[in-house]
Amino acid sequence: MTYKRREAFLPFTRPMVGQEEIAEIIDSIESGWLTTGPKAAKFEEALQAYNGIPHVLAMNSATTAQEITMQCLGIQPGDEVITTALTWVSTLSTIILQGGIPVLVDIDPVTLNLDPRGLEAAITPRTKGIIPVHLTGLPCPMDEIWAIAERHGLWVVEDAAQAMGASYRGRKIGADPRSVFSVYSFHPNKNMTTGEGGAIAFHDAAHEPRIKRLRFHGIERDAWKRFAKEGSPHFDVTEPSRKANFMDIQAAMGLHQIKKLDGFNARRGVLFRRYLELLADLPEVVLPSPGDDVHAHCFHLFVLRIRPEKAGMDRDAFVARLKDENIGTGIHYRPAHVHSFYRDFYAAHPGALPKDGLPHTEWSGERLMSLPLWPGLTEDDQDQVVAAIRQILAK
Ligand SMILES: *Cc1c(COP(=O)(O)O)cnc(C)c1O
Repeated sequence: MTYKRREAFLPFTRPMVGQEEIAEIIDSIESGWLTTGPKAAKFEEALQAYNGIPHVLAMNSATTAQEITMQCLGIQPGDEVITTALTWVSTLSTIILQGGIPVLVDIDPVTLNLDPRGLEAAITPRTKGIIPVHLTGLPCPMDEIWAIAERHGLWVVEDAAQAMGASYRGRKIGADPRSVFSVYSFHPNKNMTTGEGGAIAFHDAAHEPRIKRLRFHGIERDAWKRFAKEGSPHFDVTEPSRKANFMDIQAAMGLHQIKKLDGFNARRGVLFRRYLELLADLPEVVLPSPGDDVHAHCFHLFVLRIRPEKAGMDRDAFVARLKDENIGTGIHYRPAHVHSFYRDFYAAHPGALPKDGLPHTEWSGERLMSLPLWPGLTEDDQDQVVAAIRQILAK
């Protein structure tokens, strides 16, 4: 077969928003409820039902959700929280914004997730908790993490931003009460979207009033109801806080996205496994783990790592060559500790890195790229991605 360059640029992802979402958004606009209202409440119920969790509260982003979890847990200056550098920077920044110190452990190079074998050495008298990140939608080995947390009296907060629809031992991510909070994201790149949006899942009802206050001006209890007929115009502000509430316009989209999520993820799984087959014979690349029955993947990202010594070019050159062939890729992620703020931060806090550094994080961080993967990607699109990769490597 002769290789032919794609005519149109293929992005690495694209949101899947259909007519149902559009009609529901129009319904919100026509109803007069644009911001937080009945649809936002219905969306939270849908998240609870889907994930099998008694409490889920939605807000404007997962980043805000992470910030609020750190506030709820009372992170104080100097407190340490153990996590991974191979994540979106908000996992770290929301610890630092409370004065805390993100202590980094290395990843498992097979899964790209935090390796629990590094945890015990990272624990100090100042350690408060652990934030595992289910990177790419592949669940972390939670039993090991929960056991270590329990032994040392630490809390666990799951960064499930990429993990809507993934399961650990047959339960949706966030459904196990051994984690105090789990955070989801509905950014357009994620497996389901509300434009922007995020949520906190939790099991202890005692957290509900504080989270509601922290997402809306320090006002407790469904403040939006004061505008409705049955509401009271009076409210009390009990602490200063941000404004991070979730709009009905966003919920309108989410109510349909969550119904479509299992179908989206099944299609992502088909494409993910097909990439594994189509790329299996290439020694120049390292392929991602598809998960297993215990760690049930939701196939958020297909992360390929390139071996520069075999490919004859590094990741950035390879990404540029793919772009020349009209194939888009993403980088998830450049490890947090190599960004300039964090380079300075860890230079000032050398104890927050392992003695041997983060060799696996750095090895993968320099070589990884995300190939196009979303439910609307066709087999033809995928064949073109694979043909372009083969063409570039053959030269
Ligand atoms: C997307 C993402 C976030 C942040 O989500 P937003 O909703 O964009 O704030 C946090 N952590 C991880 C791992 C993510 O992928």
